[in-house]
Amino acid sequence: MNIQGNSYRDGSAIDISFSEGIIDSISETQTPLDENLILGPGFTDIQVNGYGGIDYNEIQSDPMNLAGISRLLYQEGVTTHFPTIITNDPDQISRLILQIVSLRKSDELSRMSIEGLHIEGPFISPMDGPRGAHPKEFIIAPDWSMVQKWQLEAKGLIKMITLSAEWENAVSFIERCVDHGILVSIGHTNATHQQILDAVNAGSRLSTHLGNGMHTNIARHPNYLWSQLSQDDLSASIIADGFHLPAEVIQVFHKVKKENLLLVSDSVSLSGMPAGDYKLHIGGEVTLTAEGKLHLKSNPSILAGSASNIRSGVSFLIKNKLASLAEAWEMASVRPEKLVNPGHILFKEGAIADLILCRKHEEGKLEVLKTIKHGREVFSS
Ligand SMILES: [Zn+2]
Repeated sequence: MNIQGNSYRDGSAIDISFSEGIIDSISETQTPLDENLILGPGFTDIQVNGYGGIDYNEIQSDPMNLAGISRLLYQEGVTTHFPTIITNDPDQISRLILQIVSLRKSDELSRMSIEGLHIEGPFISPMDGPRGAHPKEFIIAPDWSMVQKWQLEAKGLIKMITLSAEWENAVSFIERCVDHGILVSIGHTNATHQQILDAVNAGSRLSTHLGNGMHTNIARHPNYLWSQLSQDDLSASIIADGFHLPAEVIQVFHKVKKENLLLVSDSVSLSGMPAGDYKLHIGGEVTLTAEGKLHLKSNPSILAGSASNIRSGVSFLIKNKLASLAEAWEMASVRPEKLVNPGHILFKEGAIADLILCRKHEEGKLEVLKTIKHGREVFSS
């Protein structure tokens, strides 16, 4: 099979042929193509709480109820996503893991898309501000035996944990995670500078949604934002939905983190739903505005996850001239893959054929026309 489009990297007209899920060749085409047809690697979103009214953080009457998420995300060009389970009772986290395992067992399209699980919490900061909308009663110190139990239940699918570096046993816990191939990300933290340095030395390689999950006001210095920005070994994920971070903050993060800045959606189940008041596991009563801002009903300054997706994050960066199309695309594909799946190369001969064809519209808007996962067409508009 083959697909043609203009490369997301440099706009050159290319033809990609693939078989058995692998890219055989990438060659220049002889015939010119519509210049707005862009071909690139599929998006990887390592932080998806839910989507389209479906929530990975809720117990379902049938795990197959979750099958819609992968399909809706394929429509948005997301070829790989990590269901993200947030702070909860440990037994409830087990049940949430088990239902994703059984979803993958019975649904091939979900199994293809879900290449890992992200556990965000419960080992985060209990402080108001850093903990964001995570329920305080379930926040605990890092517990390796608990993670081992979850990992057994997950059949090894847990590939990422977000924690605060402020816990006394954080270093030994991080080292164990790293030894077992789990990416440790610092987030929802109230850690000191030294604690962040120690976490990086222990093997933490990412900051989760940097600039969010913080106090509204912090000391000018030292503070955990400077500390994380100062560390070249820490990549940073950001939510580029227009609400979580002002454009100038993204500009500065970009200058500091350079090729180590990447996108996540942090989408909650209300993504793609009409405006109104809702009740969510994360934060309880929330309000979704007509503009797409999702906040606690009781406090509009505290966001409760995002109601967007990673494709719209790419468009936001392009529209606001925060990154070129090529770089914004990499922030949503190659860069997150490199962190969570170092062996999973994209968009090269010999790489897995995870590809999307988009039509570029005005103001950076990308319309997904075709999504190919492991060489198989999983969406066509
Ligand atoms: Zn978070």
